[in-house]
Amino acid sequence: MKEYFVAVTPHGPLRMGDLKPRGDYFGTRSYIPGAVLRGALAEWLKAQGRESEIVSLVGRVRFGNLFPSEVEQAWGLPFPTTALECKLEGGFRSTASDREGVSRPGHGIRDGLLLFVAYSELETLGAQFPVPLQLRCMAQRGEECCGGRMERVSGFYVRLPEGWRVREMERGLLTKVALSRYRRAAQEQMLYRVSALRPQGCFVGRIWTDDDSVIDTLREAVEHIGVGALTTRGFGAARLREAKQVSLPSLAERLREFNEKLGEVWRDLADLARQVGNAVPDEPSGTYFSVDLLAPAVLNDTQGLPTLKLCLRGPDGSWLEPIWWATQPTFVGGFSTAWGLPKPTALGSAPGSVYVFRSELPEAQLVSWLENLEAHGVGQRTDEGLGEILVCHPFHREVMPV
Ligand SMILES: [Zn+2]
Repeated sequence: MKEYFVAVTPHGPLRMGDLKPRGDYFGTRSYIPGAVLRGALAEWLKAQGRESEIVSLVGRVRFGNLFPSEVEQAWGLPFPTTALECKLEGGFRSTASDREGVSRPGHGIRDGLLLFVAYSELETLGAQFPVPLQLRCMAQRGEECCGGRMERVSGFYVRLPEGWRVREMERGLLTKVALSRYRRAAQEQMLYRVSALRPQGCFVGRIWTDDDSVIDTLREAVEHIGVGALTTRGFGAARLREAKQVSLPSLAERLREFNEKLGEVWRDLADLARQVGNAVPDEPSGTYFSVDLLAPAVLNDTQGLPTLKLCLRGPDGSWLEPIWWATQPTFVGGFSTAWGLPKPTALGSAPGSVYVFRSELPEAQLVSWLENLEAHGVGQRTDEGLGEILVCHPFHREVMPV
């Protein structure tokens, strides 16, 4: 299936909640899950009396997730779990007017993945490092090195021509008057509060299909039906467009760069190990790659049991286990707007999870297998955006200095 980028620009508050309502308060997510676009498409077909087409049309599309961005030309992405910022002066160095709107350059956001992988692989190969791996901020603070502790960054970022920016969605709490289910009139003394995303910027993401007329139908669906929940109560007005200018380095390029950077970090650490008398290889052998979750994934192990550890079935049918991974659990629920029913809740791996694998396959074979993997996603319910992955997430290039 062919990959397309689409951008949704909201004109009003959006509700992406799929969490269970607690009391009179509804929460919301900060991105548009693929299931929401799929729901809008199904609802639009239903509204036009085209129910019979729902299964076949929706079945020809795989919906990715749309992440917050500022402009339709740039793809916002979730930070990988291994992205780190200074505890004292967080935020990107170039554009840190992000958190509270105050312009204040941070000490930079870096990625620890390649360092963790090289360190752990060299240890497996017999290196005994004189000191444990401890990451400290290397930014200059006046005359001195900052030395602040590094901590995890969560959320989304976008790379704009003027620099990197953390993308945080503002939420507002709106109070609404409850409507009587029977009379469609305001019910006395019934108010509820809804947390919604304020309309700012846009959301950009991928969909896969062989039928390019789907984009047009989806555009109509978003314009007429809206996106998210409570669209009949004034939420979710938006416009969808194909985002033709968004580009991503090819998988082959990402893979090459990932391995080049890993080689650099490896050589530095191998030097350090040799200084204390350990004989370790100068260069990594084989090809390493990361599988980064952009959305929650519901995974099963090789026996079919639920797990948070991603194993891949290689092109020869054998199972590939990660040599390093970082993940955390999350609840995966969902609500089908088309059918008006909640979906079963499952335990999944959270977005940002990183799994690193090592392969001996020839490069061309590895690249085509990984391209196929990226187009299909991992785990269950991938057609609605779960298990969306990026192989060798570009943020891993922002290597944390040793
Ligand atoms: Zn610092």
